[in-house]
Amino acid sequence: MTDTHPTRFKDQVVVITGGAQGLGEAFARRFAAEGARVVIIDLQCEKCEQLAAQLGRAYGVETMAISTNVADHDAMQQAVSDICRAFGRVDVWVNNAGIYRGTPLEQLDMNEWHLMIEVNYTGVFVCTKAVAPVMRRQRYGRIINMSSIAGRTGFKNSVAYCSNKAAVIGLTRATAMDLAPFGVTVNAVCPGSILTDMLRKVDAEICRNEGWPVGTHIARKAEQIPMGRLGTPDEVASVVTFLASPDASYVTGQSIEVDGGEIVV
Ligand code: NAD
Repeated sequence: MTDTHPTRFKDQVVVITGGAQGLGEAFARRFAAEGARVVIIDLQCEKCEQLAAQLGRAYGVETMAISTNVADHDAMQQAVSDICRAFGRVDVWVNNAGIYRGTPLEQLDMNEWHLMIEVNYTGVFVCTKAVAPVMRRQRYGRIINMSSIAGRTGFKNSVAYCSNKAAVIGLTRATAMDLAPFGVTVNAVCPGSILTDMLRKVDAEICRNEGWPVGTHIARKAEQIPMGRLGTPDEVASVVTFLASPDASYVTGQSIEVDGGEIVV
């Protein structure tokens, strides 16, 4: 576990979408451990509420759980106004909710294509649009978008996911331009292979298609990564909290890989 700074985000209001599990859960945990009031937004209602309650108890911070779809424009406008009514402000917003489907190009139907765009790309826009006026008024804010090294390179059977994640990098740069005059930074984080449910599903799918035993894809991937291992959610949380912290006050419009060197090879 990386060192935490118990008061770095004291009383700040931090919102994490897709925060019920995986990377988002690690971010929520780290921000709460560092004193933030944490709002978790996720489709998984029960998990979301349980985690919010658990973090509140463990770290003595106020928390809130909102069960909704990040791509639902009206619901996200409502969510931001509920958060502001409860806490008065939003300091950090992490657009982390995302889905992966590994489908060969010619089998990718329009329903799946639209679903992928809706969650991975439109969701980031919808949430950013909802929170931007609040951060502009405050003349302070940090928006952090979860892209992926998939947005920097190509992966087999991942046309929708790779293009969604590349689009998030474009959205990050353009939003950074719009919000820079108001003291709001916008950056993207591009994780490599991080062990979460999402990566386990990718492994299961690839192993099924290739006729390999479960776990083979993950093991092979680890061998190809220059650091020789997968990353942990906590290692991504370290970069997300850095971007949200005062240490990153002059960093905006950037996309930072957290991948053990995977993209270099
Ligand atoms: P995960 O599947 O474990 O968690 C994703 C969370 O998002 C879930 O709790 C899910 O319920 C929630 N979610 C999905 N659709 C939603 C919606 N429409 N509205 C609200 N919540 C929704 O995935 P993860 O591995 O923790 O990934 C988190 C983010 O990081 C994703 O954007 C993913 O693309 C990105 N990422 C992950 C990896 C990795 O190796 N795990 C690598 C690169 C990028």
